[in-house]
Amino acid sequence: MSKLFKRTKILATIGPATNTPELIEAAIMAGANGCRLNCSHGSDAERDEQIKWIRAAAEKKGRSVAILQDLQGPKIRLGILKDNHLDLHKGDELILESHPDFEHTGGLTVPVQYNLAEKVKPGEPISMFDGKVKAVVSEIVSATAIKVEIKNDGFIMSKKGLNLPDTDFGGDILTEKDLHDIEYGASQDFDYVSLSFVQSANDIERLKQLLLSYGSTAKVIAKIETKKAIASDENLEAIVKAADGIMVARGDMAVEAGAEVVPIVQRKLIALCRTYGKLCIVATQMLSSMVDSPEPTRAEVSDVATAVIQGADVVMLSDETANGSYPIEAIKEMKKVILYTQNHSRVAAISREKSSASNVYGAISTAAARLAEKIDADVIICQTASGATAMAMAAERPNLPIVTVTANERVANQLALIYANSAFVRPYSEEFGFELARELKNSGYLKTKDGEKDLLAVIVSGDRDKVGTDTIRIRNV
Ligand code: PEP
Repeated sequence: MSKLFKRTKILATIGPATNTPELIEAAIMAGANGCRLNCSHGSDAERDEQIKWIRAAAEKKGRSVAILQDLQGPKIRLGILKDNHLDLHKGDELILESHPDFEHTGGLTVPVQYNLAEKVKPGEPISMFDGKVKAVVSEIVSATAIKVEIKNDGFIMSKKGLNLPDTDFGGDILTEKDLHDIEYGASQDFDYVSLSFVQSANDIERLKQLLLSYGSTAKVIAKIETKKAIASDENLEAIVKAADGIMVARGDMAVEAGAEVVPIVQRKLIALCRTYGKLCIVATQMLSSMVDSPEPTRAEVSDVATAVIQGADVVMLSDETANGSYPIEAIKEMKKVILYTQNHSRVAAISREKSSASNVYGAISTAAARLAEKIDADVIICQTASGATAMAMAAERPNLPIVTVTANERVANQLALIYANSAFVRPYSEEFGFELARELKNSGYLKTKDGEKDLLAVIVSGDRDKVGTDTIRIRNV
């Protein structure tokens, strides 16, 4: 069994700390399997360049790397403040004005990038700057301005976010900016699109329809962070089923619903994703002290290890790689924790009562994973056209690597974030799984057990013109 491949993958957010071709290459070489480009910051032109740099670095490494476009959603942000700073005191009455030409001159009327007057009601809470300043809506002052009462002393800064946990956005969470970013993204080389502040499965259906209408083949990730999304297990389950994957967006979730709910929601979401064969990303503050320090705290190491043991597909770095002083070190540290944890602990079992194991992909994958472990195989090889076989296989969380071969580059890039998967693009042939295994053995990428000449592979494949996956073979390579 190979102890060298990370089964849980790393998604690194690109930002000023990693925004050069050299740093992106270093991030991928250090172990990033995917890069997140956050639409909350930067321009289309910057993203065009980042995509080129990521693809070039992936090619140099000879490995697939996923690119995720993170849509801002109704993440409402303050505009530009005079001197980038405004002190606030308990009892202050602050006006939030959305007029596009409004310029802050230092007083208690500040610009905001969204017309809150159309959505909020008096009495609703608003948190600013990641919950550092709390306020309550006191009045709708005009068609474009609201008044809020400040509840604690603190300060705000330009472009910091606002959270409105009790505000109903009426099923209309895509902003003008999102609509632009979706259209732009569909013309670019994105493998995943994630949507912030999802409230219901309908938000995901709408995004999927829009992407389809632009001809995009990107998969859709629902960021779980609103009080509404987590209000019931039924709603969470409906979102997981509608999306191709989810992100446990712990930063905003803690502000919206309370930090204490986050670990429980994380565990529920990972289990739901494993049940339905969906991608699960655990995000935010995983190694956050490494923004300023070359070493993580013990609690952060434990947090990453917990996500690995729970069976997350992906652990994400945000500020650590976007703005931190030790972006590459953070990736290396995360990789070390993932490898040590996977090599010393099995993934926790979940109830598979509702799992997809009863469909053909699921049933074949369950059988192949059990077989591979029983015969102490070195690797599971998946031949896949759409990626579905590889995803069903990963949902089994086998205790050995999955090498996937596909003729489709987009599918290979998407699988870069799927548990235990290493995906390769090769021209289709009936035997391309076996041929790839031989190639990877010869290149030293796949290693035989000590003293063994042959590699023992379980190959899962199908007749691509018929029902899909229908064959399991055991081969000595
Ligand atoms: C989060 O809130 O945890 C998150 C991942 O979203 P963002 O980084 O876009 O605020």
